[in-house]
Amino acid sequence: MRMNFWNRSSVGFRTSLVGFFAVLLVANSVIAAEPVTVHAVTETESVSSTDDAADDAEIWVNPVEADKSLVIGTDKQRGLAVYNLQGKQISFAADGEMNNVDLRTGFPLGGSTIALVAASNRSDGSIAVYALDGDAGTLRSVAARPLLTGIDVYGFCLYHDPTHDQFYAFVNSKRGEVQQWHLFDDGHGKVDMKRVVQFEVGSQVEGMVADDAQSVVYIGEEKVAVWRYPLPIDVDEIIRHAVDVSVPVGHIIEDVEGLTLYLMPDGVGYLIASNQGNDEFLVYERKAPNGFLGSFRIEALDGIDGVSGTDGIAVTSAPLGGGFARGLLVVQDDEDDTGNQNFKYVSWASIAEALKLP
Ligand code: CA
Ligand code: CA
Ligand code: CA
Ligand code: CA
Repeated sequence: MRMNFWNRSSVGFRTSLVGFFAVLLVANSVIAAEPVTVHAVTETESVSSTDDAADDAEIWVNPVEADKSLVIGTDKQRGLAVYNLQGKQISFAADGEMNNVDLRTGFPLGGSTIALVAASNRSDGSIAVYALDGDAGTLRSVAARPLLTGIDVYGFCLYHDPTHDQFYAFVNSKRGEVQQWHLFDDGHGKVDMKRVVQFEVGSQVEGMVADDAQSVVYIGEEKVAVWRYPLPIDVDEIIRHAVDVSVPVGHIIEDVEGLTLYLMPDGVGYLIASNQGNDEFLVYERKAPNGFLGSFRIEALDGIDGVSGTDGIAVTSAPLGGGFARGLLVVQDDEDDTGNQNFKYVSWASIAEALKLP
């Protein structure tokens, strides 16, 4: 049964491939300008695990005191860390090998709403779900049971369908499988889930991000492309469009890793991708067909080392005060100069200025 719809989707993909690239050449012409340079404003404490450990991040915007917003970062060997905007670790949930993390506010649970933080847990192939206490900076597990997916989970993102006010998780595996799960209150104030669809992308995937307002999910096929999938996904006829592809046709220098969205009103904003093989970040229009706008690198300045080999990234357009008046970009840094891996914080204003974005 499973093999059937996978095969059908991959046939559909191949027959439309020529069309994808034809569109791509018009939408994202491949004249790659040199990346511009920006600098990190601050950095987090290093994760406690050695070697490759920090991976992905997410930002919670404090609606009352923006300068008390929080960053959640994965230590993919141990769990989830919560940091403040000064980069200090406030708490740590040592619950397993959390690879990618995402967040949605307004999740209805137990008669109230919570800021839902969820992550792919490679220890048991599950989805870990938490309520974030924004004042305390702590995570409380709200799983009704071990939310096992049955696959070797890897990349992860959340999606809120605003039309039906339903919440979903997308999770993928290194084999290129993607699953969508419906997340809901089990009636006892805990989160349970039910699978909606499963499909295949083609080869190894990881980074994903959903644009709730635009009803799309972006999926990074690490050595191949960033894909835009309209939602809902019909497994009998998978539709997708290439945002960008590997060099020399496009800009991706393997691997494409983290994906994140800078959201502005009326569907305006940017899609940002971590182009790991070139130590840079690619910026596209948020609106389809996601025109390419340029790329940037994060170089060392004022005692904060530069950023290389980035995995996961997260951005918010919310004004957080201080150095982040137009928002904050958080990126994993593959190599910190003074310790284990950590996360760097970059002012969106500096990126917008360097790339001459409106
Ligand atoms: Ca990866
Ligand atoms: Ca570094
Ligand atoms: Ca990664
Ligand atoms: Ca450093």
